[in-house]
Amino acid sequence: MTANLLDFDLEGLAAFCEQLGEKRFRAVQLFRWIHQKGASRFDEMSDLAKSLREKLPSVCTITGLPVLTRQDSADGTIKWLFDVGGGNAVETVFIPEDDRGTLCVSSQAGCVVGCRFCSTGHQGFSRNLTTGEILAQLWHAEHFLRAHLKTSERVITNVVMMGMGEPLQNYGALVPALRVMLDDHGYGLSRRRVTVSTSGVVPMIDRLAQDCPVALAVSLHAPNDALRDNLVPINRKYPITELLDACLRYLPAAPRDFITFEYCMLDGVNDQPEHARQLLDLVKRHAGRGVPCKFNLIPFNPFPDSGLRCSSRATVLSFGKILSDAGVVTTVRKTRGDDIDAACGQLAGDVVDRTQAARRMAQARTVRFVPPVKENQA
Ligand code: SAH
Ligand code: SF4
Repeated sequence: MTANLLDFDLEGLAAFCEQLGEKRFRAVQLFRWIHQKGASRFDEMSDLAKSLREKLPSVCTITGLPVLTRQDSADGTIKWLFDVGGGNAVETVFIPEDDRGTLCVSSQAGCVVGCRFCSTGHQGFSRNLTTGEILAQLWHAEHFLRAHLKTSERVITNVVMMGMGEPLQNYGALVPALRVMLDDHGYGLSRRRVTVSTSGVVPMIDRLAQDCPVALAVSLHAPNDALRDNLVPINRKYPITELLDACLRYLPAAPRDFITFEYCMLDGVNDQPEHARQLLDLVKRHAGRGVPCKFNLIPFNPFPDSGLRCSSRATVLSFGKILSDAGVVTTVRKTRGDDIDAACGQLAGDVVDRTQAARRMAQARTVRFVPPVKENQA
């Protein structure tokens, strides 16, 4: 079987090159061609020895993910639907802002956690993405955007692992992907600009602190265990106290001196003034010293059969005011790409169910690309 070079971080690629009898600096050259220049063919790698260029195609490929659809919003937001085989698709969203370009990346097809307000959770779990599949989203988006915007400069300055899936339940594939994002020979992103968002897989928060500390966002969504057990079922395994302890252990290694708490605003469920006061109690008093944090209030993006509604704008603002009046920095997530249903971290609408993704794929296949042979076997 040939290797896909998108699966390797630099160390992995160096080991692969070594097996071929090549020196480490060759791995650096290859890595830069792939990630910095977006090369997908070896014959364009002009500074690589000709003998190596000729040898590589027989042992490896640089294989991205087939694009099923791309939707461009009037506000500049772009959403891709990538085919990951077996009738599954994952979503990636680019969100441009004045001072940054953020890519929201998926880590799994589906998700085991099954949060009540999340369309990915409602789909069930299909499989983990590989390192190559996680990176293919960034690789494709960055080089597409450079061509699209006619620039040779870096376009994506921030990555948030807030697409489909629970990144800390795909830890083995996640960490090498993060390393490539951070590597100066790769995408060269600063640790502060790469965010892992988690529903609270406590042991893996500790491992991330050791292996690859980046900015951490924790999906809190409720101020007490009874409510959180219901909304974010992983809370039954790792309740709020344990989660906040893990946050405190993470901070010394973290590139930022606070944790971002995400809080999805659900009408009449978790959006009352009493909930805001309970939250303050938690984050100010936990372990006797509190947890340095910011809150990001996310207006719930409804999807069919969720049985939930978004809080009114006034409720979101007054909830935020209670937090910020008590000195906790609180932001309300802007909705972007509404016209293409691309709110980051909210993957509803047309990727809600696999049947529909499969139908779109079937359409796309007939006109766009020849599926890999393995595709229909899963
Ligand atoms: N599994 C990780 C990362 C992916 S979800 C996690 O849960 O943190 C990214 C963010 O989007 C999470 O905070 C999640 O709770 C939020 N989210 C999911 N569905 C949503 C919806 N329908 N409306 C608003 N936010 C949602
Ligand atoms: Fe999974 Fe995150 Fe959705 Fe919960 S919110 S189901 S953890 S993707």
